[in-house]
Amino acid sequence: MLTNYHSHSHYCDGKGSLEEQVQGAIAQGLRAFGFSSHCPVSFANQWSMKAERLADYLRETATLKEKYKGQIELYIGLEVDFLPNQLGPSDFLMLDYCVGSVHYVELNQFGQPWEIDGSSVEFLACLDTLYDGNIQVALEKYYGIIRKMVETDAPPIVGHLDKIKMHNEARPLFEESEEWYVALVEDTLQTIKKAGCIVEINTRGNYKRGLELYPSPWIIARMNELHIPICINSDSHRPEEITASFPLAFEAARAAGYTHQRVLLEGKWQDVELN
Ligand SMILES: [Zn+2]
Ligand SMILES: [Zn+2]
Repeated sequence: MLTNYHSHSHYCDGKGSLEEQVQGAIAQGLRAFGFSSHCPVSFANQWSMKAERLADYLRETATLKEKYKGQIELYIGLEVDFLPNQLGPSDFLMLDYCVGSVHYVELNQFGQPWEIDGSSVEFLACLDTLYDGNIQVALEKYYGIIRKMVETDAPPIVGHLDKIKMHNEARPLFEESEEWYVALVEDTLQTIKKAGCIVEINTRGNYKRGLELYPSPWIIARMNELHIPICINSDSHRPEEITASFPLAFEAARAAGYTHQRVLLEGKWQDVELN
């Protein structure tokens, strides 16, 4: 059974209408599909939904949910940015669910929120200016914000846990086997386990850039030992990406020892077999 609860459209930085995403999901054989545009934020950026479009988004997703009843289950969500003491999942309680993601670590050298998943050029420039290139300090902050989200405003699904590793491509910043990094991940997984969140296996880095899954297979294996539920998502930004790299994610989940994923079906989260 295929599902995907992490998807974007032209309401944010994705391509194609919401209905085109639904048609793509049906064509790719999905049983359930969730809309998760980037939520509005209080500062200008290139990818978030504009605040004035939120009402239309909620209306249009609700209309599609009705229209496609019987063909596919649709769920209304957002990818919610967690900004400590500013914004988080509890600001969007009107939704069916959300993906909680950390995209900003702190203010950059220009006093703007520092994007961890934008261009590597900008990421590295800020890392050098703010932290003298010390990735450990930046990662401690990043995972600290994820822990804070999970402890204070837990989303049902934690988005792309270790996405910051993508900048290792531009400049080797750290090895995932380094002791301090393993400890940081372990600490974060323990916090997630306590909160009962699902961690998504996000395939976007793989089909976009040929990278590992988010999170890496060794982390997925540790998640299985801790009985943290998973959900396989593509973070699609166009209809044809809805199931991109899914075979790899299913294989990685099974290799880590998982037999089930936790998905939203018939209005509730349930564990279904990975097959
Ligand atoms: Zn994201
Ligand atoms: Zn996303």
